Amino acid sequence: MKTSVTVLGLGAMGTALARAFLAAGHPTTVWNRTPGRSPELDGLGAVRAATLTDAIAANGLVIVCLLDYASVHEAIDDAGLTEKVLVNLTNGTPAQARSTADWAERLGAQYIDGGIMAVPAMIGGPAASVLYSGSSTAFEQHQHGLAVLGRATYLGADPGLAPLHDIALLSAMYGLFGGALQAYALIGSEQLSPTAFTTDLLLPWLTAMLTSLPRMANDLEYGAQPGAAGSNLAMQATGFANLIQAAEDQAVSPEILLPIQELLKRAVAAGAGDEDLAALLPHLTR
Ligand code: NDP
Repeated sequence: MKTSVTVLGLGAMGTALARAFLAAGHPTTVWNRTPGRSPELDGLGAVRAATLTDAIAANGLVIVCLLDYASVHEAIDDAGLTEKVLVNLTNGTPAQARSTADWAERLGAQYIDGGIMAVPAMIGGPAASVLYSGSSTAFEQHQHGLAVLGRATYLGADPGLAPLHDIALLSAMYGLFGGALQAYALIGSEQLSPTAFTTDLLLPWLTAMLTSLPRMANDLEYGAQPGAAGSNLAMQATGFANLIQAAEDQAVSPEILLPIQELLKRAVAAGAGDEDLAALLPHLTR
């Protein structure tokens, strides 16, 4: 017998979550603030609750995926959460997750926070991953059901851990994509093909460079070997000026790169010129 589940919020992501539960045979009750959203779910067997209170009352496992935490608190008042397992897959900060966990637990619920590392089309497929933290009892009870959404990784009892990792991964992604946008702007400034550039040069380059991340992580954890830097920061700071100047010359804004240049300059001025990129980290933490 598959666990019955309630999904609150039928935006692009909530709809994908409900679809995945239905496809895996979980009886699924859905609710959305604006009624009638995602009508295709009705044909897949979803039960549409008339009110949010009815939706929460319908099942012990309640998944919420709204725009932000303010929406979650606005939508779910203090009624009906007693003895429920509330799994909040809304994107938010560690502090928001911790205070929402306190709120839910005061109301008698077990709370799990989650970070969805996927876009809606990936949900239920092999590339989808969802990070969880919070009540270990509730996670153990529901991990098989939650696994229908994507690979389920439990990060610990502190509810802030899933959003912390989620935000860390998104920060890395935006940094990478921001850099790719800068590259496309430069290529575009000479009317060159972004598709050929991507296939022939950008993807192989990034793939090769990403292999240096484990070494950087190792340096951060255990300390870099003195004199081991193959690409010292003083050299990188000098070369980085060319990234800024070339952008200006090509009528491309260097605004995405300027904060990295500032960081490099600060680190070199503080005496880290002989070290490698990992030496930037102390200049990034407050
Ligand atoms: P959408 O904009 O498609 O949907 C937003 C949902 O939030 C709708 O169901 C909307 O209801 C509801 N909502 C907004 N404000 C309120 C409120 N005050 N009270 C009740 N319901 C409200 O967003 P997504 O579904 O794409 O995203 C949902 C969450 O999932 C976000 O936190 C997002 O960051 C996260 N996420 C999304 C990803 C994506 O690629 N889409 C990827 C990973 C995470 P209504 O229909 O009534 O407006």
